[in-house]
Amino acid sequence: MTNKRIYLSPPHMCGREEDFVREAFQSNWIAPLGPNVDGFEDDLASYLGCAGAAALSSGTAAIHLALQLLGVGPGDHVLVSDLTFAASANPVRYLGAEPIFVDADRATWNLDPMRLEEALEDLSARGVRPKALIVTHLYGVPADMDPILAITRRVGLPVVEDAAEALGTTYRGKHVGTFGRFGVLSFNGNKILSTSGGGALVSDDLGMLERARFLATQARDPAPHYEHSTLGYNYRLSNVLAGIGRGQMTVIEERVMARRANFAAYSEGLGELPGVSMMPSPDYGRANHWLTCLTIDPELAAAAGVTRDAVIDALNDRLNAEARPVWKPMHMQPLYHGTRCYGGDVGEALFRDGLCLPSGSSLEPADRARIIDVIRGLFS
Ligand SMILES: *Cc1c(COP(=O)(O)O)cnc(C)c1O
Repeated sequence: MTNKRIYLSPPHMCGREEDFVREAFQSNWIAPLGPNVDGFEDDLASYLGCAGAAALSSGTAAIHLALQLLGVGPGDHVLVSDLTFAASANPVRYLGAEPIFVDADRATWNLDPMRLEEALEDLSARGVRPKALIVTHLYGVPADMDPILAITRRVGLPVVEDAAEALGTTYRGKHVGTFGRFGVLSFNGNKILSTSGGGALVSDDLGMLERARFLATQARDPAPHYEHSTLGYNYRLSNVLAGIGRGQMTVIEERVMARRANFAAYSEGLGELPGVSMMPSPDYGRANHWLTCLTIDPELAAAAGVTRDAVIDALNDRLNAEARPVWKPMHMQPLYHGTRCYGGDVGEALFRDGLCLPSGSSLEPADRARIIDVIRGLFS
């Protein structure tokens, strides 16, 4: 294989990152605090239009802290989108609580508000009062927040938005991550903005963010010596990595446009093939289209002699291009075997039929055209 690997979602640096990183070296702020951390937090808050952001070592850490700040503890229950990455749910277990999963809606691939309603009614009849809801904006497509918030407000259920995949995504003109009590971002190597590893907790509650920073730096009480009355963590983002984040923030809108252009090109090239459906792009918001995904109906595609897995293999073998199935729903994971789930069929079908295509913002249009050609070729 001589072709350069076409990754699903590789990091995409713009050049400005090195200026901020060099500044960190020159000023010797090689620490989990410093001007880049402060600057990156300001950049994020002003871009999203929320009061503040706390830069952390990962999106997973941000979810962990959000749940802890909401008082989740042993024996509690937390509702979580079923179709998501495991990092949405795992922090529930870190705190000794149990997740309860809620299926996706076929129309959005995101949390189904009707299932949420059903879950809350059924749990209430069982005397279970969940402590929080974690709703994922899957692959950068916004969840339908209005009906979800109407339900959660009625019962006083705090919402944590897992916007790890959705920086730059809006819902009715407002950035996702700013609707719930907390929003969570990830800057892992595969996300739309990468600091190699990192994350952030965002909120309009500055007191809570201050508390998050306190917990993220080992929860040191004010004293000249090391005094601790609370269990803390080492979850702050390095000032070096925050410099990468500041550079990346100078081009975030361009990155969103490039990912959206991938989705548009794939939709045009593949959307009409028999049995192929693009993932939804609901008109209530602007998806960042972190990953472009589609489903291949097994029966319709079989008539054309194609399977989802044959597409993955062909892209790998012919173009050295990386494609993957859609996330495996949490209720199907061995880790969560036996966990309560409301619905589950939609996530199961999307896992069976769904495919994520190479979607990087640095994806060359020529490579994208070759990917489209290879897939079209399988169907003819
Ligand atoms: C990437 C991701 C996370 C975790 O973020 P890390 O920064 O890798 O810890 C959480 N939830 C979802 C949906 C993600 O895609």
